[in-house]
Amino acid sequence: PEVISVRELAEKMGEDPNKLIADLISLGKFVTINQAIDFETVSKLVEKYGKVAKLEGAEEEEAILEAELEEAEDKPENLKPRPPVVTIMGHVDHGKTTLLDYIRNTKVAEREAGGITQHIGASIVEVDTSEGKKKITFLDTPGHEAFTAMRARGAQVTDIAVLVVAADDGVMPQTIEAINHAQAAGVPIIVAINKIDKPGANPDRVKQELTQHGLIPEDWGGTTIMVPVSAKTGEGVDELLEMISLQAELMELKANPDKKARGVVLEAKLDKQRGPVATLLVQSGTLKVGDPIVAGLYAGKIRAMFDDKGRSVKEAGPSMAVEVLGIEDVPLAGDKFYVVKDEKTARKIAEKRQELARESALEKEKRVSLEDLFAQI
Ligand code: GDP
Ligand code: MG
Repeated sequence: PEVISVRELAEKMGEDPNKLIADLISLGKFVTINQAIDFETVSKLVEKYGKVAKLEGAEEEEAILEAELEEAEDKPENLKPRPPVVTIMGHVDHGKTTLLDYIRNTKVAEREAGGITQHIGASIVEVDTSEGKKKITFLDTPGHEAFTAMRARGAQVTDIAVLVVAADDGVMPQTIEAINHAQAAGVPIIVAINKIDKPGANPDRVKQELTQHGLIPEDWGGTTIMVPVSAKTGEGVDELLEMISLQAELMELKANPDKKARGVVLEAKLDKQRGPVATLLVQSGTLKVGDPIVAGLYAGKIRAMFDDKGRSVKEAGPSMAVEVLGIEDVPLAGDKFYVVKDEKTARKIAEKRQELARESALEKEKRVSLEDLFAQI
């Protein structure tokens, strides 16, 4: 877009407008004195005079805000392996909560005095594998919600989906729904055939039924890992965790930990004592106490951080989930967050976003009232 007329520019520069017109011709632009020229042309022109053109006002500010949020591409050598982020999905009552509780209680809380695990919306588990200890981040959000709410805001949080199917019940409507969600998101599925301790359990029938939905078990010549487990007795759970780690390794999940953090809001609420509390999943970079942040529509500065065991921490790297204090209001699950260079920038971006949100809300109202008008006719 044109930003200034030749006459105005000449006045600003203290040059003869005719001289500028001649310069513009040499740049291939044929303009009259009252014609306006674009920013790129202005930049080239003033360069000849040893000057640098800058946009003032709103446009410049927006350009800065955009640049602030734009992610520079990471060089391969800066990428380091990161733990997988796993969601548990499946039909109601097939044992999702029991499985996660078993994993959490045996793999997480056992090292904690008192064994009390605070609920923050994610659990980080350490697994012994043939290649040493590996971390896995499990999201507590039920798979369906995690997928729909997060994806509605353009956020992809899950690397691997664990599909729980009860061996005494088989494939049910929400099992199929879960398969569809995971496939639409391009997320690999590992099947946990659960409740194998029950007398009526029939794992082969489950495999048979899953085959009809495109999931063919490895031992039948397919590519889907299926592990028989009991969330009640714990049988097979170690193998399941090992399979998740193996799958993660195959995927070569990586992120750059040495930059400003960005990621997704998993949960957020207003706590009477502590104010807005949000659980953030760091997807790249390292989040630190004191960091200025924008989360969804809100600005803030990280005042305190807690890990999934409720311990105060100073830092959280890629694939870690932490509860944070210091965001000015309650963002939505699925909102993206960004650490920015200072609080002033955070505030500016938040204000801009709130303004845009208000505008689009108004737009929607307008559209609704128009439709109403048509309905009356
Ligand atoms: P969700 O709706 O998928 O979260 O299912 P829940 O974890 O709430 O489990 C539903 C019921 O199945 C509960 O009564 C659990 O105790 C039971 N259950 C879950 N896993 C197992 C299992 O491996 N074996 C047996 N016998 N019962 C289980
Ligand atoms: Mg449940």
